[in-house]
Amino acid sequence: MSFKPMTNPNHFDSIIFYQGAAAFSAVLYTGRYKMSTLILGEEFGSETATSNIIENYPGQFQIDGLGLMLNMRQQVEALEVNIIDGQVDRIVRESDRITVKANDQSY
Ligand SMILES: Cc1cc2nc3c(=O)[nH]c(=O)nc-3n(C[C@H](O)[C@H](O)[C@H](O)COP(=O)(O)OP(=O)(O)OC[C@H]3O[C@@H](n4cnc5c(N)ncnc54)[C@H](O)[C@@H]3O)c2cc1C
Repeated sequence: MSFKPMTNPNHFDSIIFYQGAAAFSAVLYTGRYKMSTLILGEEFGSETATSNIIENYPGQFQIDGLGLMLNMRQQVEALEVNIIDGQVDRIVRESDRITVKANDQSY
């Protein structure tokens, strides 16, 4: 599968909301398929980053939540995704695209 490069820096094949464990997991797939991807969320790491010790993450006996989220971010940064801190204010469906409003910007 291949995607056309976007010419406008605010246009993306895929926008993933929030900066929690679910968002960073999803971007592993879009990033690997070379989709231009934006992660948009207001709080890095979300709930997982506030957890002390996590004991049920496969392959890890114990890991602290913030450390786990920092690892996830490092892994997705290697896929050259864009990460922007901000609150998602509005999502508008148009005929040929979906526009997301955040930080007084449109994506
Ligand atoms: C103290 C504690 C300990 C835990 N321990 C464990 C454990 O050991 N094992 C385990 O499996 N789970 C544990 N959990 C649960 C685990 O943290 C959650 O299941 C996990 O964080 C869910 O991830 P998520 O990405 O789906 O959502 P979240 O982590 O909730 O992320 C959602 C994010 O979206 C942001 N957001 C919401 N609306 C907007 C908006 N309009 N614009 C921008 N951003 C927005 C929120 O601020 C939040 O940062 C624990 C949770 C807590 C609080």
